[in-house]
Amino acid sequence: MEQQGTFFDPIDKLSGRVKEQMKKRLPENFSPSDSEYITSDKKFVLCKKCGLPRYALEYNIFTKCEMYNRKQCDCDREDELRKFNEERAREKALYYDSPVFLRSVGEKYRNARFNDIPTEGCDSTYLFAKNQLERFLGGIESNLESGKGWYLWSEETGVGKTCLASCVRRELLDSGIPCVLMTDINIVNDCESRRFATGEFDYATYYDVKVLIIDDLGTDATTDGGRVSKLTNRWMNDIINQRYLNHKLTCFTSNFSKRSLMDIGFDKRIVDRIMEMAPAEMRITGRSFREQLDKAAREGREFDLAY
Ligand SMILES: [Zn+2]
Repeated sequence: MEQQGTFFDPIDKLSGRVKEQMKKRLPENFSPSDSEYITSDKKFVLCKKCGLPRYALEYNIFTKCEMYNRKQCDCDREDELRKFNEERAREKALYYDSPVFLRSVGEKYRNARFNDIPTEGCDSTYLFAKNQLERFLGGIESNLESGKGWYLWSEETGVGKTCLASCVRRELLDSGIPCVLMTDINIVNDCESRRFATGEFDYATYYDVKVLIIDDLGTDATTDGGRVSKLTNRWMNDIINQRYLNHKLTCFTSNFSKRSLMDIGFDKRIVDRIMEMAPAEMRITGRSFREQLDKAAREGREFDLAY
């Protein structure tokens, strides 16, 4: 407290009127933060980290007296730049929240976040997967660097795979990391329809986007005679190969294990790539997620995932 008194000493030299004005201009109840200190001549408040002034006592030609001016030290500048870049990254990532990219996510899961999704009564394999995906997000920087993703599968449908993948998508976009979550069918249809057209985005998105989550890989094999179409095989081959070569982070959900992808008609080469790109394999065995949703529906309540 004593230090504050001495810090404001110059005011005492001024006339009453200017003094009143000056008091308004000085930071009220100023005390240096832990990261700064006042020099012994009271002329500067310096940053402990970079040594540059945060405040300097300077002659002001308008008030004709010395007053403390707020300065930016190097850390302040770095901080400002970092915040600016983070903000821009967030804005850029939100491009992937536009309707074209929501076809596989839908409004239901659009804003799903890990904290909002059901856990009560869900089985251990689902909870394990949820936990692993949260850990994946925790280490996202090194995962982006290594390009190592995950593979989430279950034989049953409706066990919560898309919900979990949607949470990963939302949390990545929130932190400014571009992410697309699309079913393989939607990706193939998109690529086909935009092959010869110039639209608001082109299929190169799937090669380039920082994180691509391919949802329901091989799903046309469940309706189409047990085999994926040649078209699906070709596009998946192309996209997965491009991303593999560029170490792009790629993740998958599927109703098939990695090992059985060849049985449904995917080339061995794609399967080998997937093995390498998504080494973490998680399997959900229970049906309890769907049961929780059904129970909620029967009781007339819905999980509040979209807001
Ligand atoms: Zn500094």
